[in-house]
Amino acid sequence: MHTHMDSRSLSNGQATDPSSNQLTIAEVSKTYRNGVKALDAISLSLGNGMFGLLGPNGAGKSTLMRSLATLQSVDSGQLLFNGKDIQREPESLRPHLGYLPQDFGVYPGVSALQLLDYLALLKGVTDKGSRRRQIEQLLQRTHLYAHRHEAVSEFSGGMRQRFGIAQALLGAPRLLIVDEPTAGLDPLERNSFHQLLCGLAERMVVLLSTHIVEDVRNLCPRLGVLSQGRLRYVGTPQALIDCLQGKLWTRSDQAGSEAAATAGHRVLSVRIIGGRCQQRVYAESRPGPNFEAAEPDLEDGYFHALGAGVEASVGTEAPPPSERPALALACSVGG
Ligand code: ADP
Repeated sequence: MHTHMDSRSLSNGQATDPSSNQLTIAEVSKTYRNGVKALDAISLSLGNGMFGLLGPNGAGKSTLMRSLATLQSVDSGQLLFNGKDIQREPESLRPHLGYLPQDFGVYPGVSALQLLDYLALLKGVTDKGSRRRQIEQLLQRTHLYAHRHEAVSEFSGGMRQRFGIAQALLGAPRLLIVDEPTAGLDPLERNSFHQLLCGLAERMVVLLSTHIVEDVRNLCPRLGVLSQGRLRYVGTPQALIDCLQGKLWTRSDQAGSEAAATAGHRVLSVRIIGGRCQQRVYAESRPGPNFEAAEPDLEDGYFHALGAGVEASVGTEAPPPSERPALALACSVGG
């Protein structure tokens, strides 16, 4: 399998860019047997680099991740990696796939070194020498070398997630799928995990799913907002923020004020600042005398995308296979 993986990079420069990759998701839908439509005509095209898939719990993120990881099927549409159909030929992707699921179980008492060795064998790294070299490298890279003889089951949350990345990188994948990796990590652990991810994206497609806006803000040059199985926005974080320039207003009220939408404006969120509730409101013009203009941030953009998508998707046909920037947003994103 390892030789497979390297076949493109060993092509003596014949390929235009041997390390470039392309993931194409075209009109993908999935309805579970209980009637839940988890994915609704999703279309997205990704090259190398970090892409953040942002959405609330139940949005369909894991369904998409598991489908890409060849662990479950979709009802319709196509998933292509470097031109190969993942559904029809899962074996074509598996050697190039690194997957960190939301929860991964480990056998109690098995050390990081033993577990990586076992998983590397499963991934087809059969040569003992190259297996050892690769595992040592990965342990160094994930700052776990000093802990290599310790049981993974005893690791802290952050160490466990870094181990998760180490195992996902066995066999040098071209597509790395990381599902809600920072849930439950403290800020320091999250930071170190982010740094680890940052260093990887140059040579592969990294798809990071999360419900934490912070995870995406500094990490991902592009993001998608998924809700109720539909992509509400695809583009840069900045373009999403720019949608709200001149249209975001705040009003500070007594604690406990209700976030009620009224005609002409929509409450995006209520933040508690210094014990007071601050309504953050989207409106074309100042909604009332008590409102002040505010500087939008990515969280505002995210809530806007969630809300605007639902409204704008009414009467909007399914997006074409090619990606549409800011597809459902009620704002004019240039280009
Ligand atoms: P997310 O990862 O964004 O939280 P999921 O993909 O896990 O979202 O779930 C999307 C929707 O599909 C949710 O409503 C969830 O309850 C439902 N769902 C997920 N997996 C299954 C399943 N195996 N059977 C039935 N419904 C499911």
